[in-house]
Amino acid sequence: MDRVLLLATGGTIAGQADDSATLNDYTAGVLGGEDLLAAVPQLQDLAQINVEQIANVDSADLLFRHWRRLVWRIREAFAADSEWAGVVITHGTNTLEETAWLLQLLIDDPRPVVLVGAMRPATALSADGPLNLFQAVQLAVSPEARGQGVLVVMDGQIHGARAVTKVATQGVGAFSSPGSGPLGWVDDTGVHLPMAPPVRTVPFSALALPEQWPQVAILFGCVEPDARSLKALLATGVQGLVFTGTGAGQLSAGERSALQAWPGPRPLMLRANRCGSGPVHGVHDDERVGLLPAGSLNPQKARVLLLLALIAGLDRGGLSARLREAAELS
Ligand code: ASP
Repeated sequence: MDRVLLLATGGTIAGQADDSATLNDYTAGVLGGEDLLAAVPQLQDLAQINVEQIANVDSADLLFRHWRRLVWRIREAFAADSEWAGVVITHGTNTLEETAWLLQLLIDDPRPVVLVGAMRPATALSADGPLNLFQAVQLAVSPEARGQGVLVVMDGQIHGARAVTKVATQGVGAFSSPGSGPLGWVDDTGVHLPMAPPVRTVPFSALALPEQWPQVAILFGCVEPDARSLKALLATGVQGLVFTGTGAGQLSAGERSALQAWPGPRPLMLRANRCGSGPVHGVHDDERVGLLPAGSLNPQKARVLLLLALIAGLDRGGLSARLREAAELS
């Protein structure tokens, strides 16, 4: 029987409320990974599953040290044991896409890494966690998922790590891949991945993660943004900055001139957009003040890329090359 490593990190999938009709007022990250497994006895026919608890938190409270531990454990498990068919990670849905993208940039192995969460706590009527978990394991042991990198499964849909994002605060179908759509689906007939791309590169496969991570901030564009926020951020010595620009990632004239006039060292900077889909292309004026376009990465994923670029010690040229590679990833 296939062997799967289940890494539990918390989230609503491990959440508990006082009664089964309560959907919003609950505590995330209460049940352990073993409890989640015990709730789905059908998994015993699918795979032999080893559970390890990496954290048990609401995903808003995940820390860089949890990311570091996840990456280390997956790399170590794949390197040490050829018997693992794949890895499943249970995760809160709020930041699941950031962890998926981080792993996509770091884990170089054909075996699937599948992230899964739930929109309803484990105690809810019609909790979605048990079926989501079952389908995540289905995906992790499927030959179709091999070589497809880091995948997310929610509500029967399979998404790639680059495009997937949480698009709704409520409802079990809260995930989408704007622009490209999901890679496929999983149901009781099996795993279907008609849209999966054939090749992928892993830009940071050899990168060692330090204990101390750089600081990368995100600024949100709006009408008449106060340039003092930008200056205050620059004054903190932040090493990376992502602008969530309006439209195709546009900065206001005030922000651009604050950047132009900034006398100190400049962080590595990316421009993403607040529209939720579509690319940000290079603009000459912005590039002159040090801003690179984030392509189709959303701001939170642009931040992940920037974090790794800074850890790797890349300059703007190096970041630009990694952005081009990242654009090829699913
Ligand atoms: N609060 C939860 C989290 O850990 C939300 C969820 O998992 O659906 O992100």
